[in-house]
Amino acid sequence: MKHKMVVMMGGQGAGKGTFSKMLMARGDYTYIETGAILRTAPADSDIGRMVARGELVPDNMLIKLMAEKINYCTGDIILDGFPRTQSQAQWLVEHYAGKWDIHIIYLDVPNEVLLHRINKRFHEGSCHRTDDSDTAIIQRRLNAFYTQTKPAIEWLHTAPGIKFATIDATGEPDTTLPHILDALN
Ligand code: ADP
Repeated sequence: MKHKMVVMMGGQGAGKGTFSKMLMARGDYTYIETGAILRTAPADSDIGRMVARGELVPDNMLIKLMAEKINYCTGDIILDGFPRTQSQAQWLVEHYAGKWDIHIIYLDVPNEVLLHRINKRFHEGSCHRTDDSDTAIIQRRLNAFYTQTKPAIEWLHTAPGIKFATIDATGEPDTTLPHILDALN
């Protein structure tokens, strides 16, 4: 049987990190979180500047980074923050659908709820992310989601050879989690 590759997708604040952690408490997964990896780049590097501005980092850089991470894995994996563009999505399916059982979990949350959650995360969070503090940067990241990631999600929805679930993630995490677990079984 193939191992699972769980791909968490959704806007900023949809709950990708939250549900990844809940799944990790229930199973043995390698967790690959692109935002956290990219935030380790020095602030004065090209990547550091792009992340601070809320711009997507170019596909070729992400693909190189992901190939290095994924090629080390032999078991179940959770991807959080990748893919975010159609090219990234196509690359993932082309290279890994043969080896892993790819499950796309699209966390569907209305825009106003996303904005509210990002705001709350900044004010209540223990680690203040600078890209969560500025309304213009938040808006730029949400725009990138709607213009670049949404089309990738739509493409994945009809892509052959992978599993796709749309999960309404507007409510509390504990009520949403069972729907994700169902989708993965
Ligand atoms: P959020 O989902 O809240 O925007 P992340 O921590 O996932 O935050 O990502 C932070 C930043 O890292 C993004 O704004 C973007 O600059 C960069 N990034 C993360 N994943 C990708 C990706 N797959 N492709 C391009 N850039 C990415």
